[in-house]
Amino acid sequence: MKNLPETFGCNVFSFKAMKERLPENIFLKVRETISEGHRLDLETANFVADAMKDWAIEKGATHFTHWFQPMTGITAEKHDSFISVAEDDKVIMNFSGKELFKGEPDASSFPSGGLRATFEARGYTAWDPTSPAFIKEGVLCIPTAFMSYSGEALDQKTPLLRSMQAINRQSKRIMKLFGNETGGVKTTVGAEQEYFLIDKADYDKRKDLIFTNRTLFGCKPPKGQEMDDHYFGSIRPRVAEFMADLDDELWKLGVPSKTEHNEVAPSQHELAPIFTTTNIASDQNQLTMEIMQKVAERHGLVCLLHEKPFAGVNGSGKHNNWSICTNDGDNLFEPGDTPYDNAQFLLFLCAVIKAVDDYQDLLRVSVATAGNDHRLGANEAPPAVLSIFMGDELSEILDAIENGSAYDKKEQSLMKVGVHVLPKFPKDMTDRNRTSPFAFTGNKFEFRMLGSASTISSANTVLNTIVAESLRSYADRLENSADFEEDLHKLIRKTIKDHKRIIFNGNGYGDEWLKEAEVRGLLNLKTTPDALNTLVSPKNIELFEFHKVLSKTELEARYEVYMENYCKTINIEGLTASEMIRRDILPAISSYIKNLSETVTLRNSALGSSKKSYEEAVITRLTDISANVYNLTNNLDEKLITAKDVKNIKDKAEVYKSAVISLMDKIRVLVDEAERLCSAEFWPYPSYGKMLFSI
Ligand code: ADP
Ligand code: MG
Repeated sequence: MKNLPETFGCNVFSFKAMKERLPENIFLKVRETISEGHRLDLETANFVADAMKDWAIEKGATHFTHWFQPMTGITAEKHDSFISVAEDDKVIMNFSGKELFKGEPDASSFPSGGLRATFEARGYTAWDPTSPAFIKEGVLCIPTAFMSYSGEALDQKTPLLRSMQAINRQSKRIMKLFGNETGGVKTTVGAEQEYFLIDKADYDKRKDLIFTNRTLFGCKPPKGQEMDDHYFGSIRPRVAEFMADLDDELWKLGVPSKTEHNEVAPSQHELAPIFTTTNIASDQNQLTMEIMQKVAERHGLVCLLHEKPFAGVNGSGKHNNWSICTNDGDNLFEPGDTPYDNAQFLLFLCAVIKAVDDYQDLLRVSVATAGNDHRLGANEAPPAVLSIFMGDELSEILDAIENGSAYDKKEQSLMKVGVHVLPKFPKDMTDRNRTSPFAFTGNKFEFRMLGSASTISSANTVLNTIVAESLRSYADRLENSADFEEDLHKLIRKTIKDHKRIIFNGNGYGDEWLKEAEVRGLLNLKTTPDALNTLVSPKNIELFEFHKVLSKTELEARYEVYMENYCKTINIEGLTASEMIRRDILPAISSYIKNLSETVTLRNSALGSSKKSYEEAVITRLTDISANVYNLTNNLDEKLITAKDVKNIKDKAEVYKSAVISLMDKIRVLVDEAERLCSAEFWPYPSYGKMLFSI
């Protein structure tokens, strides 16, 4: 891209664009209202809408859409053109403040988890002025929240925005106690996105990729990722061209894509943006995933965002780097220069420790999808058990506070909160552990359990809310304190004592850790249905209701939607496996058996049948395999029918989780063996070797 500083964000209706187009008094009003999170009045909104429309039309846009994120996990848009008919049948381009504020898409085809019954088909979208509008493919996209007519959230953005308000409220209470009268805080996120790229021609030949986004079969190639030669390796030309094009597109949309590199698995890559306010980061991540897929197609590639597209090599995740920042730009997880600042830092740190321990279940729920189940707990991804990596230095400080012992060995003075200055934690000191699901990395936390295909909204909604809850309990305690410093010290000590079981600095991938975690009483929710059941526990409903993030009804609806989503995903996988077996795999095996049998017959007639040939061995094994596969597939089909008929969603998920998945696993082992035995010429699908090593 030429002249990046000028073209960056050229398709975004940013403050800069607004400033150029709005009367100064209106611009100042808009900027202030937006940064303070208030609502714009209709008159001002009319000015904004008009300026936005003119700007968009100049950029070639003819349509606008309220861009929203229903609970499908992807984004939705319905395009309306700007045209309206004026007097004399003349067509004019129009866009009002009312249209900017509110849209009314038909909500009946979006998942609502039963909420639909109470509001019928109607739903509405409401402008989120804190996330800038942008132009994508000739359409002005306005980020919006999506709600039922009675105001219940039907999307991912609404609870995220509410959780940002919750953490803002509680953080302000705490900061006030330290004499920091801040205008407000927001959470910030940088979401590192992993993905695979494969050739489109290979993709088109695989029904499993087309229907389920992952390979359901495929034997391991002779080479996987064991040589570690892909990670940070030199980027091949075709991929480099894709990345350059992708950056170009993202930059125009104001997405600050910063780092692109090869990941551990062959054909796996990562993109990291510069962090920004959480709801914008979330919108930008959705946009990034969409643009990645579109740009890949232009390069004859397919971008796979599934958490585990290939067995036997690493899956893909998202690293959600999260912090709290004042509106003035101070990062609250940056240890300060004065003892008082440090005490505040320690209290916020403790709030996170307490939150992660108290709400392990919710953090696990926030990353629970059928796809991510393949990854969490597999040997390269963080386990399904939550723990926090603090690094040795910070852990020593926390130990010293808990035990009232000396931290600085030289001074031999007792560690006292509010008195001692903490050292700065250099990033390389704290970020050596890559196996932790939740790591403190010097001045932010990195939550690594998120799946690559999911929205980051759920995880951040939970993070914001649970930390808000810790802060609330601290503020309740400290606001009425007679001796603030003493009580603060006690509170920090107590938090460390009560919650240190969640801190683990060792290897999170080892089996020993899972045993140790069990001894410590930490949760190990292995599958999505196990995790989802905790979403609607009384403790969690109380949390979300108290902080006004999600009501009981909304949570119950979400539980339904996510459970249904899980069941539907496994159902499609089961049906796809069955179709591939019956229509492609078994016929391929039969053809190959026939081919070998003809060879044997011909050779026998030429040489006599005295010699045992390799063909006979292969024919025998393939015959056994195909008979077993056939029987198991019949069982699979039966189970899929049974599961469909189960009414209760919890029982239904159980059938998919135990019966369907285990049958599919058994079948896969056999099919993969058959692939190894079959002539490549007869096998109906491109191999792992071809897909992973050919671009
Ligand atoms: P890595 O984790 O690969 O070592 P970095 O730590 O440099 O990479 O950055 C990872 C991500 O963390 C980037 O997206 C970066 O913008 C983001 N990040 C850095 N500081 C913050 C912060 N204060 N809040 C949220 N995200 C941050
Ligand atoms: Mg990282």
